[in-house]
Amino acid sequence: ILQNLIKAEKLQMVSHLAASISHEVRNPLTVSRGFMQLLSEDLSPEKSKEFVHIALKELDRATDIINDYLTFAKPAVEKNEKININEEIQQAINVINPLATMNGVEIEQTIYGPEHNPFMTIGERKKFQQCLINIMKNGIESMTSKGGKLHIHLSGFQNTVKIDICDQGIGMSQEQINRLGEPYFTTKEKGTGLGMMVSYSIIKGMNGTIHVNSELRKGTSFKLVLPAFPL
Ligand code: ADP
Ligand code: MG
Repeated sequence: ILQNLIKAEKLQMVSHLAASISHEVRNPLTVSRGFMQLLSEDLSPEKSKEFVHIALKELDRATDIINDYLTFAKPAVEKNEKININEEIQQAINVINPLATMNGVEIEQTIYGPEHNPFMTIGERKKFQQCLINIMKNGIESMTSKGGKLHIHLSGFQNTVKIDICDQGIGMSQEQINRLGEPYFTTKEKGTGLGMMVSYSIIKGMNGTIHVNSELRKGTSFKLVLPAFPL
């Protein structure tokens, strides 16, 4: 219960975040602009190279923040559509697969094809995509040092579906698990700490829940439970 209260509190903070996010994106843009301006002056080739490098790094930073946050930053017009869960998972896998391959990660799925046993839920398709992609991306990033398998399992029973996203990566300590979903909490050098906050909020908005199981050096599994109905 305490955990749930903490999560609820975190979610409340989310509403105040839009302003701070645009600030987060504006910062690297402003820095890049500054360096571009300097570039237009006479500079040694070494200095020019250094400034271009900094400007590019700052632009990448802005992109990372937008990638983790994209659908969320949109004005909160709640669109409620029927979502085919099987199809959306497939789509998310297609999007993330190149990143997996690049990191020596194999995506293994046990999903009923959309043609049999499709499960539907209600929500906003793009947000659901964002949530799946953020969680899959974390799974892949947890295995960058030695590769491994990202296993995605979908099962449905009665009025719910369960989506398991399991990696064989570095895992998390209890302290890390507790802080998961906190804005700007990241252990990565180039992390935004926004991906999980966004995911929790999206699943909450779909009346679902996220459960985390993790063991250091063994891996992590995220279990999403959503209300669903057969097509
Ligand atoms: P970011 O990925 O930018 O760091 P996230 O909000 O997506 O931000 O994740 C926050 C933190 O949660 C990560 O920095 C990492 O410490 C931890 N984390 C999330 N998913 C995993 C995972 N699958 N394995 C290990 N750690 C994870
Ligand atoms: Mg992330």
